Order: sequence, then structure tokens, then C-alpha cells
Amino acid sequence: MSTVLITGANRGLGLEFCRQYVQSGWTTIACCRDPGGAVELNKLASQYNNIQIETLDISDLDQIDKLSHKLADLPIDVLINNAGIYANDRIRASGQPDYQAWNKSFLVNTQAPVKMAEDFLPQIKRSEKKLIVSISSLMGSITDNTSGGSILYRSSKAALNSAMKCLALALKEQSVGVLILHPGWVKTDMGGINALINANESVSGMRSVIDNFSLEQSGCFVKYDGTKLPW
Ligand code: NAP
Repeated sequence: MSTVLITGANRGLGLEFCRQYVQSGWTTIACCRDPGGAVELNKLASQYNNIQIETLDISDLDQIDKLSHKLADLPIDVLINNAGIYANDRIRASGQPDYQAWNKSFLVNTQAPVKMAEDFLPQIKRSEKKLIVSISSLMGSITDNTSGGSILYRSSKAALNSAMKCLALALKEQSVGVLILHPGWVKTDMGGINALINANESVSGMRSVIDNFSLEQSGCFVKYDGTKLPW
């Protein structure tokens, strides 16, 4: 049976990934900051026995180390770096970026996914599928950026793309794949109510891309419907 580990599983796309993988029979490690307050996840855990909820704030790199040690013996087929933040860069009256919020964006959106990949690499290498997935955003595409704005978010996702491409090249020899996914504009707390698609559609599409992944695609930036995206 396959195993998936998902960060940011409390709500939005992370929760939907958990729902779909649990219902498909995968062993699902659902990581969230506050398991006690994770109402929907706990409901899922009361209905299915193939889900395990773990505490993880990815901005605390020591917590990543500890969880990796705790799960040292578990082969992980697919790691999904889903947790992310959108820091509003217009918050300051001066109009200047909030540099602390920018650091936090890089920590959560860029560095933590790399740390997850590095720390869980032994478990991933021992699995069948051997795949690291990072949920990025089309807003991290420099080619696609024609409107500007959202400097903190865009730059942290562009850096995530760059870091994941490096990992893809470094890990290919070991048959470990890296996939960078854009989920579409999705109705979640982050995407808002005007978004174009719901979480079910986005995650169904991303799961299909994940299911059909082959190592030649490693390091590619792909939309939830399988379309290849420009950097
Ligand atoms: P969301 O509804 O805002 O949910 C974000 C999730 O990330 C929450 O579960 C949150 O945990 C978790 N999270 C934030 N900081 C964390 C931390 N330090 N440690 C652990 N978990 C943390 O967002 P979403 O729409 O589901 O987004 C999921 C991913 O898709 C993100 O990487 C986002 O950038 C990307 N994305 C989304 C869209 C969209 O339209 N929605 C578009 C492009 C890309 P809590 O519940 O504890 O706060």
C-alpha cells in the first residue's frame, strides 16, 4: 500500500489531498500545526484508519527533524509540500515591503519545502514511487508575470521553483522525482471566493498528474490539468 505525507493538511488544498488519498486507500500522514483544533481532519480520522495526524509547523526546522526521526522506518511514496502563506506586501503604509514578512515567506514557502525533502529523503528512497511534490504557484513564474505586485509571494514561489529544479537534477540519479505543481486559482482561504475552481477539481487533477508521473518529467513546472508551465 502506498504512503503520502502532506503538510498544511488542516484546511484548503492540504485537507482535500488528505480526503482523496485516504478514500483511495493510501496510508496518509496528515501534518498540521494544531491537531487538537483540526476538526475536519479529526472527523476523517474517526471514519478511516489509514490516516495518521502529526504535529508540524514547517517554519520550525527542528520540528521537521523530529518528525523525520519519528517516522524513520516508514517508506514514503509521495511527499507533498503543500503548506504555504501569502503575505500581503501592501500592508505597510510606507508602501515598502515588510521585510520580516518577506523573510517568513521565504522560510515557509521556500526553505521549509527543501528541508522537508532533505530530511525525508531516506524514507522517500525506500518507497516504490519516490516522488517529492511541491505546490508552487503560477505567480512564481517570471515569464507569466505581466501585472507585477505580490513581491513577497511571487519571489518566494519563484525561489521554490528554482530550488526544486536543483533537487530534481541532484536526485534523478537516485531515481527520486521532483514535481512542481500549480494548483490553479482555487476557492480556499488563500484563493478566495472569486477563484475559478474548487479544491476537489484542483486536487483530482494534481493527483492524476502525480499518478502518471515518470522520471523524465522530473523538475518540470506543471498545472493541475497536466499543462507544462513556463518559468
Ligand atoms: P490556505 O487555505 O491558506 O491553507 C494553507 C495551509 O497551509 C493551512 O493548512 C495552514 O495551516 C498551512 N500553513 C501555513 N503556514 C504553515 C506553517 N508554518 N506550518 C505548517 N502549515 C502551515 O491555502 P491553500 O489555498 O490551501 O494553499 C495550499 C498551497 O497551494 C499553498 O502552498 C499555496 O501557495 C498554493 N496555491 C494556492 C492557490 C489558490 O488559489 N488557493 C493558487 C496557487 C498556489 P493552518 O490551518 O494551521 O493555518
